[in-house]
Amino acid sequence: MALRKIITIGHPTLVRKALLIEVIDQEVIDLAHDMVETLLAAPGVGLAAPQVDVSRRLIVVDISVGEDPASLHILVNPEIVSQEGSVVCEEGCLSIPDVHEKVVRPHRVVVRGRNLEGDEVRVEGEDYLARALCHEIDHLDGRLFIDRLSPLKRALVKKRLRKEIARNESR
Ligand SMILES: [Zn+2]
Repeated sequence: MALRKIITIGHPTLVRKALLIEVIDQEVIDLAHDMVETLLAAPGVGLAAPQVDVSRRLIVVDISVGEDPASLHILVNPEIVSQEGSVVCEEGCLSIPDVHEKVVRPHRVVVRGRNLEGDEVRVEGEDYLARALCHEIDHLDGRLFIDRLSPLKRALVKKRLRKEIARNESR
């Protein structure tokens, strides 16, 4: 296992729609394990493959940040199959340093995907877990949480991060 570098806002991979994973091969398994290690080291509660510059549909979520092995979810090709309610809560992102803003998310979601063995799995999440799952699945569609803010709020955040964005865009 190895730590991967987390890319930040302005990097083109973060706004790209990630590709479906057709085959769960050793490369995908290694990527997933690296992502778990990277997530826990950050530390954070969720990480999507595009955040480590791999444009594929893989997320890892652990709202216990390594405290409870049962709360680690590794999902290949995750998709939201149902959602209920809405909750406004503050959110942040490892790819958008030092920014925390209130975002509306469903209260409850059911996510379907595959585990690393290739079996279909369903994860039901409420509140914080629902939020984390939605946030990471958004990354797979090239969407950042600030894209869910009002245009004015988003513009203010981008202004604050303009140096970071410019540095990443000029790569
Ligand atoms: Zn994020």
